[in-house]
Amino acid sequence: MPHRLESESRKLLGRLREALAADSEGQARLDAVVNLIADQMRTEVCSIYLFRDAETLELCATKGLQEEAVHQTRMRLGEGLVGRTAKSRTVTNTADAPSEKGFRYMPETGEERFSSFCGVPIQRLGDVLGVLVVQSKDGREYTPDEVYALEIVAMVIAEMTELGAFVGEGAALSARHQQPVMLRGSIAQEGASEGQVYLHEPRVVVTNPISDDPETELSRLREAIDQLRKSVDNMLVGARTVDADQAQVLEAYRMFANSSSWVRRMEEDVNNGLSAEAAVEKEQSLARARLSKAGDPYLRERLHDLDDLSNRLLRTLTGQGADAQADMPDNPILVARNIGPGELLEYGKKIKGIVLEEGSVGSHATIVARAWAIPLIINAKGVTREALNGDTILVDGEQGIAHLRPDETVQSAFSDKIAMQTRAQERYASIRDLPAQSKCGSVISLQMNAGLIADLPSLEGSGAEGVGLFRTELQFLIRNQMPRRAELSALYSRVLKAAGGKRVAFRTLDIGSDKVLPYMKPNDEPNPAMGWRAIRVGLDKPGVLRMQLQALLRAANGQPLTAMFPFITQISEFRDAKAEMDKAIAREKKLGHPLPSKLDVGAMLETPSLAYAPDAFFEEVDFISIGGNDLKQFFFAADRENERVRKRYDTLDVSFLSFIEQVIKRCAAANTPLSFCGEDAGRPVEALCFAALGLRTLSMRPASVGPVKHLLRRVDLNEVKGIMDDAIARGDQSVRRAVSDWLVYQV
Ligand code: PEP
Ligand code: MG
Repeated sequence: MPHRLESESRKLLGRLREALAADSEGQARLDAVVNLIADQMRTEVCSIYLFRDAETLELCATKGLQEEAVHQTRMRLGEGLVGRTAKSRTVTNTADAPSEKGFRYMPETGEERFSSFCGVPIQRLGDVLGVLVVQSKDGREYTPDEVYALEIVAMVIAEMTELGAFVGEGAALSARHQQPVMLRGSIAQEGASEGQVYLHEPRVVVTNPISDDPETELSRLREAIDQLRKSVDNMLVGARTVDADQAQVLEAYRMFANSSSWVRRMEEDVNNGLSAEAAVEKEQSLARARLSKAGDPYLRERLHDLDDLSNRLLRTLTGQGADAQADMPDNPILVARNIGPGELLEYGKKIKGIVLEEGSVGSHATIVARAWAIPLIINAKGVTREALNGDTILVDGEQGIAHLRPDETVQSAFSDKIAMQTRAQERYASIRDLPAQSKCGSVISLQMNAGLIADLPSLEGSGAEGVGLFRTELQFLIRNQMPRRAELSALYSRVLKAAGGKRVAFRTLDIGSDKVLPYMKPNDEPNPAMGWRAIRVGLDKPGVLRMQLQALLRAANGQPLTAMFPFITQISEFRDAKAEMDKAIAREKKLGHPLPSKLDVGAMLETPSLAYAPDAFFEEVDFISIGGNDLKQFFFAADRENERVRKRYDTLDVSFLSFIEQVIKRCAAANTPLSFCGEDAGRPVEALCFAALGLRTLSMRPASVGPVKHLLRRVDLNEVKGIMDDAIARGDQSVRRAVSDWLVYQV
């Protein structure tokens, strides 16, 4: 950049800083900003458009257009050149605006006189807040240097908007992050909770975007980059000794940290008057804008790396977000773009509610939240942008709505809802010790799903008769290294002790798919749910499975033991896995360790293929548990984590139910106990239909035991079966409607 412009841009920022520092109202500040940009850039028009709501841009200040148009002229995202600039997140620079595609003439502004137009998005970390526009009569394109200067200024305006510098009364802008906002998402776990926002990745706030001391800022920037490079080098040294693949990923990461063009661009920004952190943010915003458009997966990965490095740099420069857990509020509601099961487990049960921008109902993070009965809303678009740490938030898991910074009316209606929830809990507590016996006399065994020691107290509280599924992988997920056999056996024996003699069905390690252990080689598979996972890993690399089986046998210490293998798709897999158990028993016997007084070894039926296994399978297996979460995704060919397709298929679909009925019949013929332990077992209407088909054991999250039992005790299963049969005979796609309508008059 030529020296003249460099100092011009610095001068502009210097004047901007004075205007922003003045003790004036938000509108006066905005007016001052457009005036001085127009003056400094010798252009006839300078205007600032900011978003009124997610879809509408409003002219908030202008020098050169009609004054009366301010706060009157509005356009939708994508509409006209201003809307186009915001939507595309790129600069629009034209000498002849009226002939540009999409141009829309706004008569109230008087802009027909101006031929040239340059619009620059005002964006902060990929979040577009508005558009900065300059226009002039002479038909010319603005030079790259002028555009660059506008980008720098837009960056400062974005920061100041975020900090509330333009907030005012009346028609002026209302403060960002201060208004009540209602966010609609999808329900992943019911329940209601109230608390304060706790951001999984707290937003870094830059309070000093402009600097008049480039030397100091440059040395701050270089120092932070130095620190960043050292920390990446250290990570790399650690990774090389553990895992070559992970090291390779980090090598690419290091290449970026050392990229001279990235550093040069940030230094240039600083030389032009931005502070070190504003320079980092400016480049990060550009990278995010590119990321949103990049289709190539490799490029997307690299842009993600760059984004991550920028976050680290910002944290170093601002000192923010270094010790996130330290500032957790009393009733934390976790707000995140997405979260993995391991990260959620690290936060633990202190989290009172979760709101995610993405997420899915079938993910393991969701299962953890469900197990803990923490209300969870997924697909709440915009929540990470709107929420600030500490904001009051109400999570309405019944409606799939989060109320951020609620007003009094919403707040009081919500308190009523929480009171109702408490009353329902009391009702369930009153039937806790009664059997789940239907009016026709059928008794259903209700068991609970668990995965952590901390879940075991729910056995008592919920009234569950045992643990129908103990997901052992959760213990592996919360560690940063592979647990040892002695640790595992101590842990399993604590589980058995806490269960106080009730049956616990330990499922051996089910990793792969979305359950990725941080200390195991990442498995780059195109379709991990159908890839190398669960028992497939256990049989191909039996070291961990053997260790786990030994740990289980030792934990049982002569008491009864129940174990099951996940994701068995054919008889040979079950036989091979069972052979590992037999070997483990022989080894224990040789070592003189006590053997379980009774051993049940079962298989999870999670793929349709197993339902058609030879009769011998049903005879050899001690019990079968239907893993409905996986089974459903393979039955309907609908990814359990993909919200778009997952919702299309109903568990109460006639084909799925007739498939389940067939499994029930095959088990009955072989006298093999059968249970259902997927999430659907905990949904009252689904549970009722399964029971009507003949299932006698259902395993669910502890909080569902009460509602399921409450419903089961009020109905005659023969009548339910009759309603289902009628619906099937009528040709209904699903029996849900018929059963739900019938229930209205029964309970
Ligand atoms: C299932 O698939 O239904 C199941 C219980 O296993 P997971 O959800 O852990 O995959
Ligand atoms: Mg499964």
